[in-house]
Amino acid sequence: MSFVFNSAFAFGNTKITLANSSNYYHDALKGASVFKRGEIKGTPVVYGYNKKGKFLGYIFLSTNLVNIESYSGLPLTSLISINKKGIIQGVRVVHCDDPIFLIGIPISKLYSFTDQYIGKNIRSNIYIGGKGKDHVSAIASASVTTVAMDQTILMAARKFASKLGIMKSIVKVKYKLKNIYSPANWNELRRDGSIRKFTISCSQMGLKNCSGEYETVYYGILSIPNVGKNILGSYEYGYLSKRWKEKNQAAIFIIANGVSSFLGSGFARGGAFERFHLEQGYSSIMFRDVDFSYISSLGIKGVPYFKEGGIFTIPLSIFNPILPFHVVFTFHKHVSHASMLNNETFHTFYSNYHLPSKYYISSYRYVKKMNQYQIAWIKYLKYVIPLVLFLIILTVIFIIKDKIITKRLPRNGRKWIRPLYYSVLFLFLILIGFIKPSQPSVTHLYTIYDSLFVSYHPALFLLDPLIFILFAFMFITAVIWGRGVFCGWICPFGTIQEYIYRIKEKILPEKLAKKISFEFNNKFHFRLIYLKYAIFIILMATAIISIAWGERLAEVEPFKTVFYLHFERQWYFTAYAILLIGLSVLSYRFFCKYMCPLGASLGLLSKLKIFSIKRYGECKSCKICAKSCNIKAIDDKGTINRSECFYCLECQINYNDDKLCPHLLKLKKAKIGNIK
Ligand code: SF4
Ligand code: SF4
Repeated sequence: MSFVFNSAFAFGNTKITLANSSNYYHDALKGASVFKRGEIKGTPVVYGYNKKGKFLGYIFLSTNLVNIESYSGLPLTSLISINKKGIIQGVRVVHCDDPIFLIGIPISKLYSFTDQYIGKNIRSNIYIGGKGKDHVSAIASASVTTVAMDQTILMAARKFASKLGIMKSIVKVKYKLKNIYSPANWNELRRDGSIRKFTISCSQMGLKNCSGEYETVYYGILSIPNVGKNILGSYEYGYLSKRWKEKNQAAIFIIANGVSSFLGSGFARGGAFERFHLEQGYSSIMFRDVDFSYISSLGIKGVPYFKEGGIFTIPLSIFNPILPFHVVFTFHKHVSHASMLNNETFHTFYSNYHLPSKYYISSYRYVKKMNQYQIAWIKYLKYVIPLVLFLIILTVIFIIKDKIITKRLPRNGRKWIRPLYYSVLFLFLILIGFIKPSQPSVTHLYTIYDSLFVSYHPALFLLDPLIFILFAFMFITAVIWGRGVFCGWICPFGTIQEYIYRIKEKILPEKLAKKISFEFNNKFHFRLIYLKYAIFIILMATAIISIAWGERLAEVEPFKTVFYLHFERQWYFTAYAILLIGLSVLSYRFFCKYMCPLGASLGLLSKLKIFSIKRYGECKSCKICAKSCNIKAIDDKGTINRSECFYCLECQINYNDDKLCPHLLKLKKAKIGNIK
């Protein structure tokens, strides 16, 4: 059924050609007034000139180059123009059958959408949703049409550009698939690149009400014998591969788990899958229900839990399994339910796949492009550089701390340490607390566990360079000096608590400040510190069983509320974070001492501590350091609990103070006695 919704589309049953759409050349190439028809490598083209005879661009008809089906199952026939440099000059839809424009969405929305492509370079990846030079806004509530229109413009323009010679044309690569098979489990197929994992996080979707992974997708080419036999079993693979061969098809599988659905909520019989498609060279492959069979379970050992999955067939005439391709996901989040037309924000993600070379024989060689890790590191370089610089400064401070504290530096070390300490804390708070929130959390430990022991994908951590650097630094320094390097000198939430406590001490009269402060007695305190270890163990155990529940319980940390969501979330999360900050006014770093699961994990690592804080024999009976240790890491016997020490260096200042430390006073006295 064809829906003619605008007189401009009234072609009746006449086939639309470049010749009979001449009424729209002006719209397709703005500023052009002289048009000459011609042909480039078999494709009809119109050359557009302005009044002065200056060449402005080429106009071509999308359906002469690509056949991308939209919601109606028919293409969105459009005139597209590009200039000699491959910059899109204009787009004019001349025929569209999508019923969505008959039931409420004005056609002007489609025009506004296509107008966004003017000025875009056809070589760029164009993202639907988000902001920036290469991003376009979707047509709200018309996601299938959005994706189909996007693909029509880009693929047709690129194919035309290859005819002009301004983009490399795709080589029809010859290949032969090897009929190899060796039994392999899921993780082995993941490791050798047969199965690709692609993760989209809640933060990439800009969602505030979820954390961690928004959607985790696994996919691969099922028609490759080794992949198909291992995943489906020999019998089922044998049956299906026979059908694929008969129809000259390849097949891919996709399974996914997450908050959303990659199959799409709007998918219905006869409809298209609007949330993902494939791109290979100038081909855009969108899937419909006839290409799809549902997967509810897979027998292969080690397959992760998945909520939905499917097998999708692709004609081998438009898809070459040995050439690299992108799986492009377009998800949209509902911002509000108030306005159905304007409430969706789209995000596009590209996942690259290339079949491992062991599966085929061909003269073609795959040249690797920048992978997503390299892209992430380049993107975050402006934060990585200052972070690394701050960490180097901190490391130097720790190496020369004894020199700073003793009088070997020009001025008394006591005067240096406090300002230095608060300056370092401030720098980290600004950088990883506010400018680029990167507060390490127990949820990152879940990811480490998962990537090392479940998905065997340790490189996953490299996707967030700042978190990667911080964790590497935290772990290394916890083994060398203990938990104190991170907890005492870096952690943004620790810093907030530290500052609040110190500000209280500064602004309130001493008596009042003392009156409103509380600390448990040592007996209770040294028992209560184990609470955080219990929290840590419960959280990790829960996350191992169910990552979703692990994420929920991780809300015991207020980090997300404070640094990522800036207190803008449900009232109880905000109230909890404010309560913890409020407690830190009364009790020095209450959360760190008793509740923090991340602190507990570092506390366990601190048991390995290579360097210990220096002590004298007299420390056992002297209580001076124990009193000045705010975090209460020194017990009644004068022993420092290495898992609790925040390396504030207060006791080390005492240790070197010959006017305060009983040991040094004794030595001084003995020296004076000897001189006498
Ligand atoms: S205990 Fe937790 S909140 Fe406190 S400083 Fe360490 S990591 Fe940060
Ligand atoms: S006073 Fe000493 S024991 Fe206490 S936290 Fe500071 S460095 Fe550690």
